[in-house]
Amino acid sequence: MMGAAQPGLIQRDRARLWHPYAPASPGLPLWEVEAADGVRLRLRDEDGARHDVVDAMSSWWSVIHGYRHPVLDAAAQGQLERFSHVMFGGLTHAPAVELAERLVDLAPSVSGRPALERVFLADSGSVAVEVALKLAVQFQTASGHPQRQRFLSIRGGYHGDTFAAMGVCDPVDGMHSAFPGLLAGNVFAPRPPAAASATPADMQAWVAALGDIAAAHSGELAAIIVEPVLQGAGGMHAYPAECLTALRQAADRHGLLLIFDEIATGFGRTGELFAADHAGVVPDIMCVGKALTGGYLTLAAMLCTSDIAATVSNGRAGALLHGPTFMGNPLACAVANASLGIIGDGGWRADVARINTGLVSGLAPALDLAAVREVRTIGAVGVIELHDGVDVTAVTAAAIRHGVWVRPFRNLVYTMPPYISTALDVERITAGMTAAVAEVHERVPASSGSSS
Ligand SMILES: *Cc1c(COP(=O)(O)O)cnc(C)c1O
Repeated sequence: MMGAAQPGLIQRDRARLWHPYAPASPGLPLWEVEAADGVRLRLRDEDGARHDVVDAMSSWWSVIHGYRHPVLDAAAQGQLERFSHVMFGGLTHAPAVELAERLVDLAPSVSGRPALERVFLADSGSVAVEVALKLAVQFQTASGHPQRQRFLSIRGGYHGDTFAAMGVCDPVDGMHSAFPGLLAGNVFAPRPPAAASATPADMQAWVAALGDIAAAHSGELAAIIVEPVLQGAGGMHAYPAECLTALRQAADRHGLLLIFDEIATGFGRTGELFAADHAGVVPDIMCVGKALTGGYLTLAAMLCTSDIAATVSNGRAGALLHGPTFMGNPLACAVANASLGIIGDGGWRADVARINTGLVSGLAPALDLAAVREVRTIGAVGVIELHDGVDVTAVTAAAIRHGVWVRPFRNLVYTMPPYISTALDVERITAGMTAAVAEVHERVPASSGSSS
């Protein structure tokens, strides 16, 4: 036990560490994780009190099979006994080869034949996006279009925190204003209409706007990059799958590559294995990450067609110009293979459907709260959107009191539970989210009929 004079772990953290999108602040609210098992986290707060909570976030989309999964633990231990890391320049190993084969087999295909046949293993989602953008430019150059160096994206997107990735994030809500000299140059079509309310007229207008902007800039564009069907960190915005068909057509008409960033949506989260599968659209390049290792280790991948790979390899540069130190880390690949093995068993489909049912019924009561603007779900994702910004610290603390770990942002309190969550876990999550919003953002209980 620590004496009162010794600083606790949380104080030591505050003195030394950065956290995501956070100031180096003496007052940053933090909870220590003492243990994690299945869908549960054991948290300890600054006063030493313990809180057993259900993880509603899957540690940011990644821990789809839960913490300490026996199959993933065994895969990590097994590889640890062989070797943890070797360089990938000039060397190869079974976990990386097996992972590439698995990814190609799972990825969107054309009439049952693999369409994305070449895999680049990257160390994080942002890096996979960097590699995808780089590959697109190298492809255009090798195809005789060296002037095609810019990208077309849609507003409301999020693709990561490195510079090229930031450059295709939403130009207003993203980080463009903080780095104006470094992030200019890309073009943005409007955000697609919301899946829940899109009318045929909305769709027509959006497709026309997309076509106009693609036509206006076609000579200088290398690729279109979007998060298919669900924009995540840019606002948890679900849009109609038909938009993917329009994006494919716009790309084909103007000689652009189509990049799908499936880093959040991949591996079943939206109810199909990949969000692209909702429309049967095959991109030229696809990025995956987050859930790839079941949340155990950092790993991502970029897949592309054989044609792109051959064109770039035969171009003047003669190679794809990227190669991280920890490329194809064997430990991460071994765990990814175990995670994809579980995905391959197919149980995720029933899991995601069960979770969706629980989210739909469990979040419905939140609509009665005056502070709530909208409730929406897609697959194993549930969102409560408020009219105004969330008091993140207060809602997080309130949810913990109700036994749930959530991490709201902007005006959104949202969940993407691990696939192993039972109906009861989902009930606890939705009840906790709703109660936290009610306690923090409703002065007058909605049942009194207040409309403010
Ligand atoms: C999280 C995310 C990224 C970035 O991945 P990191 O591993 O955090 O670098 C990129 N694109 C999308 C859609 C994401 O959700």
